[in-house]
Amino acid sequence: MKIYLYNTLTGKKELLLNPKGKSLRFFVCGPTVYDYPHIGNSRTYVVFDAFVKYLRTIGYSVFYLQNITDIDDKIINRANTERTSWIKISKTFLDIYRRNMKDLGVDAVDSYAKATDHIPQILNQVRTLIENQHAYEIPNEGIYFDITTFPNYGKLSRRTALQAEDAVSRIDDGVNKRNKGDFALWKFSKANEPSWQSPWGLGRPGWHIEDTAITDKYFGPQYDLHGGATDLKFPHHEAEIAQQESISGKEPFVKIWMHTGFLTLNGQKMSKSAGNYMTVDQFLKSFSAQVFRLMVLSNHYRSPLDYSQRLGQENKARWLLITEFLAKLDLISKKSAIRRSVSLEKYLKSFDAEFTLSLADDFNTPKAFGILFKFISDANPKIWDLSKTAAYKTANEIKKNLKSLGFKVIFPEIPKKIQKLSSEREKFRRNQQFMQSDSLRKKINDLGFGVEDTPLGSFVWPLGAH
Ligand code: AMP
Repeated sequence: MKIYLYNTLTGKKELLLNPKGKSLRFFVCGPTVYDYPHIGNSRTYVVFDAFVKYLRTIGYSVFYLQNITDIDDKIINRANTERTSWIKISKTFLDIYRRNMKDLGVDAVDSYAKATDHIPQILNQVRTLIENQHAYEIPNEGIYFDITTFPNYGKLSRRTALQAEDAVSRIDDGVNKRNKGDFALWKFSKANEPSWQSPWGLGRPGWHIEDTAITDKYFGPQYDLHGGATDLKFPHHEAEIAQQESISGKEPFVKIWMHTGFLTLNGQKMSKSAGNYMTVDQFLKSFSAQVFRLMVLSNHYRSPLDYSQRLGQENKARWLLITEFLAKLDLISKKSAIRRSVSLEKYLKSFDAEFTLSLADDFNTPKAFGILFKFISDANPKIWDLSKTAAYKTANEIKKNLKSLGFKVIFPEIPKKIQKLSSEREKFRRNQQFMQSDSLRKKINDLGFGVEDTPLGSFVWPLGAH
């Protein structure tokens, strides 16, 4: 299977090579742990979790690495506001991040690397950049990277050096910098700020250097895949390229760069700093982790996704539709005593082929889900005519494809009370006591469940799928 991915660096879809015998080295920028994870940054983590699981399913060995920014201005500011230590802030929010990722079924990461566990590697990189004259010291401020020493600065985000100078987003302050776009590699600590010893004085790492120090340690100076959301192209990823290529002289630093689109609220990027966010905990009060995954993957990873309660509801209904179909297939494959002849072999083969092809084309998950829903709507009218084997094979094929994207198929629990009402209703129906059976159907509906009369008895499912 040939996988093509859109590479931000070249602006083209490129073949992803399978480094047979070795692991594909994949790095994704992790969170700055100073606040609750929200559904915006979780979109990015769910996309890459699904992507890695998919690659592993089709035979790639992947080493998936993520950093944790556990020292940063934002962490220090929050600690000062709350009159607590930066260590307490970063530990608290790292724990919450880990719990939330578990809640969302995000577990494909092989290793989480904290910035503060890599100070020696960071200092090494800063030292090399000073020696190579890519970096300079500003007394009482820090060590800065001089962007004019790296002529390719801007090649990822396609900015000229001048545009890089004009950029304002998360560029370090500093009145004495040689160029406006120069960024900090090492920041000298002010009084009462966290600090580490360095040859240039007490200080702490800049934001960009932790990533290259970490990837250099685990992967070496060049690796296969790097991911993050689109806001990180500039200055963060551009700075990573400048640092690592200036240190090693090898390019490209990363073969393929993948960038996810934003999750937005009323068209605005959801972000901690803007305050327009919904936490993962808030989302999970209304919807399940599977609904979140479906909502995220029903949109192409590079396109923006505007969140609303309605979008959540729609995806809840779509997930119920998939699980209802699978529950019926399970029922047929276990219970059906009738030997029926309808098989979906031909449809199933083409469904599987098309689903697989869509994912191989720049991880086109919305197309894959379009194919799955078309298959379900074509197969649904014939479902009760399926043979036991056909039902079993169909359910297996769909479950396999869902699993490859990290879904867990869990059937909703039908409360005992509803099951009891449904059996009573079934008895009335068999005795042709339709008034009584209709009144029980209404009662079941009022409690949020639907009843379908099938050749295998009544089938009860939560309402909202249709
Ligand atoms: P942060 O939590 O801001 O440190 O970001 C962690 C990761 O999530 C980075 O890859 C960000 O680019 C990404 N991210 C942050 N906000 C959003 C958003 N609204 N939509 C998608 N990805 C985001």
